[in-house]
Amino acid sequence: MDSMTFVLFGATGDLAKRKIYPALYNLFIDQKLPQSISIIGLGRRELSDATFQNHVEQSIETFSRRIENDYSKMGEFLDAFRYKALDVTNTEDYRALLNFVERREEELNIPENRMFYLSVAPEFFDGIALNIKESGLGSTKGWKRLIIEKPFGHDLESARDLNAKLSEAFEEEEIYRIDHYLGKPMVQNLEALAFANPVLQALWNNQYIANVQITASETVGVEERAGYYDGVGAIRDMVQNHMLQLLMMTAMHLPKQISANDIREEKRKVMESLRPLKKEDVGLHVMRGQYSAGEINGQSVAGYTNEPGIEVSSRNDTFVAARLWIDNPFWDGVPFYIRTGKRMKEKFTRIVIEFKDSLKELYRSRNEQTEPNLLIIEINPNENVSLQLNSKNPLNDGKMEPVRIHFASEQEGVPEAYERLIFDAIRGDSTFFAHWKEVELSWEWVQPTLEAFEENLVPLHLYEAGSYGPEAAHHLLKEDGFKWLLDK
Ligand code: NAD
Repeated sequence: MDSMTFVLFGATGDLAKRKIYPALYNLFIDQKLPQSISIIGLGRRELSDATFQNHVEQSIETFSRRIENDYSKMGEFLDAFRYKALDVTNTEDYRALLNFVERREEELNIPENRMFYLSVAPEFFDGIALNIKESGLGSTKGWKRLIIEKPFGHDLESARDLNAKLSEAFEEEEIYRIDHYLGKPMVQNLEALAFANPVLQALWNNQYIANVQITASETVGVEERAGYYDGVGAIRDMVQNHMLQLLMMTAMHLPKQISANDIREEKRKVMESLRPLKKEDVGLHVMRGQYSAGEINGQSVAGYTNEPGIEVSSRNDTFVAARLWIDNPFWDGVPFYIRTGKRMKEKFTRIVIEFKDSLKELYRSRNEQTEPNLLIIEINPNENVSLQLNSKNPLNDGKMEPVRIHFASEQEGVPEAYERLIFDAIRGDSTFFAHWKEVELSWEWVQPTLEAFEENLVPLHLYEAGSYGPEAAHHLLKEDGFKWLLDK
């Protein structure tokens, strides 16, 4: 692995503390960091290197999935860290940063491979990229890369605008857009499940699949994110990025090669085939909801508009369900349903694939009932796959009953999403990062919905906290003769 400099903007922030330092530490323990690495943390405050290293150590002790007893390792790890105060809007500071980076490169005798991780508010993204270019930080003899976090734009226009600005400083291949759902092991496993198993590969189309249901449901409410979330809603916070990424990963077709380019090309094709929505028709396919007071796990919780920091008149969506159609020969006629919400009954992310029950009639003529075969992919918090089949139960007069073949990986110490993603970025593997085309096509699909919500063309259904969302989300499937599967 190439020796490198890792420049972290937002080094005193929440994401750095909870995710980035623990991820770097675990990679270090697993010997997945380059032999020589210079890590430079940047923040607004003045801090000494020692105070910063202490902060990093505390973060690891609080948030790392493991902590080694061998403290000599911690010392060696922290030794790579330096701190520099920098105001992201001050051009002078970038020139000083360049000197600092170069000095460390000389000290450690490492080539000019530079990774810039922007763990700061999105309004700074374009300015930082431009300053990296203009200060000379980006003119390296080695490689340069940029890692950015969501949100990538607020709508189609702002996303295009941001991308145009980033493109002035970085090539597309140098930009790593994190969608942490793509770092989850079971999401990465979707590709293997569908492509490395001929028995599933053969069925992965509209001849055998009746519908696909993708749910990401949370029990938490808006928490401390009111200021951010109220202008964003489930549609931007979850649907435009995570839900559509899960849809792409499920619906993509067998690539020519299992490579970053080919996989991302197949994902793009899915998005290009997604049937666009007209603003006037959004209400036929997209339902939005907002939680009202209710009870979750025996605890009473407030409604959204009574949460601290939220206006009583807010019409923000905390729930979205939608029906999507992929107009290509593989998926023609198969509805894909997505659903996501806060303050729901259960916390889980799951994909359920319902197969067509073509032999139902054959058994019905013998007064026996079959259930549709299901492939159930649990992504979070549990990770497992099960296949529901029909089988005769000898203890019940040989009656047909559904049975499940279940596979769960019980391995300990599975790397977390941020570990996998940072490791991939360090090695230059962009398979599980969002390509600009995917992001743009996602915004294109979502844009009419944003406008329909804004103009109140779609009703806002209240749903009780602790439920599976508004009734309207159930009607969406009922219209097609289906129901949300596995709701308790
Ligand atoms: P935060 O507010 O906790 O931290 C922001 C960081 O930016 C701090 O280190 C602060 O010093 C720095 N900063 C702010 N203004 C600055 C300035 N003018 N000059 C220099 N530095 C400045 O934010 P966060 O929660 O760590 O989020 C960082 C990014 O990650 C955001 O884009 C956010 O949307 C994204 N994100 C965060 C999470 C999370 O769990 N926290 C999850 C997903 C995405």
